[in-house]
Amino acid sequence: MTPPNDANQTLEQQVTKLQQLVEISLSLNSTLALEPLLQMIMDVSCELVDSEATSILLIDRNTRDLVFSANNSGGSDDLIGRPVPLQNSIAGTILLENRPFAFNDVSADPRHYEEIGKDVGVEVRSLLGVPMRIKDEVIGVLEAINKRDGPWTRADASSLLVLASQAAVAIHNAQLMAALRKAYDELDKTDKLKNDFIAIASHELRTPLGIILGYASFLRMDTEGESLEHADVVFQSALQLRSIIEQLTNLVYLKEDAVELSLAEVSVADLLRTAQQDIQSLAEAKGHLLVVRLPDADRHVTVDVGKMATALGNLLNNAVKFTPAGGEIVMETQFRPDEVWIIVRDNGVGIPPESADTIFDEFYQVEDHLTRRHGGMGLGLSIAQGLVAAHQGRLWAESAGADQGSSFFISLPLNGSAGGG
Ligand code: ADP
Repeated sequence: MTPPNDANQTLEQQVTKLQQLVEISLSLNSTLALEPLLQMIMDVSCELVDSEATSILLIDRNTRDLVFSANNSGGSDDLIGRPVPLQNSIAGTILLENRPFAFNDVSADPRHYEEIGKDVGVEVRSLLGVPMRIKDEVIGVLEAINKRDGPWTRADASSLLVLASQAAVAIHNAQLMAALRKAYDELDKTDKLKNDFIAIASHELRTPLGIILGYASFLRMDTEGESLEHADVVFQSALQLRSIIEQLTNLVYLKEDAVELSLAEVSVADLLRTAQQDIQSLAEAKGHLLVVRLPDADRHVTVDVGKMATALGNLLNNAVKFTPAGGEIVMETQFRPDEVWIIVRDNGVGIPPESADTIFDEFYQVEDHLTRRHGGMGLGLSIAQGLVAAHQGRLWAESAGADQGSSFFISLPLNGSAGGG
C-alpha cells in the first residue's frame, strides 16, 4: 500500500533534513578553530530552522556564568562576553531545565531579558532555544531568533537539538585544542628558559674549572706522597666536572640546531676501532668482556668522526654502567641495502618496556633520582640521538625488559647509496 501524498511529502522532508544534519555534522568536525566554528554553527542553524539570526551562549570555564559567545545578527560588540542571569532568563531556563523551549511571541514571556534583546541587533519576536550538551553535561545554549515564516515546529526543535549536540562536541574539541596549544606554548617558553639557563651556567662554570684543572696539574707535578694523592683526586674530580659541562654544552648546541659537522669519509671498521680504544680500559676496570666484531666486508660512511665517537661512546659508557660487573658487551655491525647499523649490546639491567622511548628524553633516567645507584644526568642518550640525527641517521633501543640486557642501534647512510654522502 502506498502512503498518501502528504505522508510522502513529510517523509521526503524528513530525509532531506537528516541529510542536511549529516552534512552539517561532517563540516562541524572539519575545523578545530573556535571562532570559525562558532560562525559555522550560527550559519547552519539559521538555514536549518529558517531563522533570521542565532546566538550561542556558553558556560564560562572559570566563573561558571552563562555568557554570550557569538551572535550573527549584527548586534553590538559589547554583547560578546556578557553574562546572562540563570534565574529569570530564557537562556538560563533552557540551561537549567536542559530541554528545548519555543516562544512564538517572546514579548509575552516575563523571562525575556529585554536589556540584552536590544543589543542583539534585531527586535526579538520569536525564539527557539535548545541546550548544548555533551553526555550529561550542558555546556551552553543555542538560540534561533525570529522564524522567517510561521511558528516554530516540532521538527525545528528536534533538528536544532541534534545540531546543538554536534556543535557542543565540536566546541568542546576546539576548546581542548586551544588549551593544548596554550600548554605547548608555555612548554616552549619553559624549554627556552631551561636551555638559556644551561647555556649560561655551563659557560660560567668553564672558566673557574679551567683554573682548577690548571693548578691541580701543577700540584701533581710539584708534590709527592699524600699530597700527590690529594692533587690527583682534585684533578680527577675536575675532569669529571668538565665532562658534565661538556654534556650540557652539547645539549644546548643540539637544541639550537647549531651542531656543526666536520665531515670526513671513514671506514665503519675504523669507527668501531676508535670507540673500542676509548672504552676498553673502563670496561676492563669493571671486569666486563668487550667483544668487537669488525665487519668482514668493510664499507665507508661520511661522518664527523669526533661527534660519532661521542655518540658511540655514550652508548658504550651506558653499557658498562648499566651492566653488573663481569658482564659482556658486544659491538657489531649489520649492513642493510643503503645503511649500516652499528649495534651495542649488553647483558645488563635491561630497559622496562614503558621506558623504551622515554630514555631518549633529556634528563630522563629509569631509576628514581632519590634511590638511583648509577651516576649521570640522563643526557647521554638524547645527545647521542641528536648527533646521529644530524648525520641523517637513527638511534633506537631494544630490550626484552628488566634484567634482560639491552641493544642500542645506530643507523647511518652508507656512502655510494641514495642517502649516503
Ligand atoms: P645517564 O646514563 O646519564 O643516566 P642517558 O641519557 O645516557 O643518561 O640514559 C638515560 C637512561 O636510560 C639511563 O639513566 C638508564 O636508565 C637508561 N639506559 C641507558 N642505557 C642503558 C643500558 N645500556 N641498559 C639499561 N638502561 C640503560
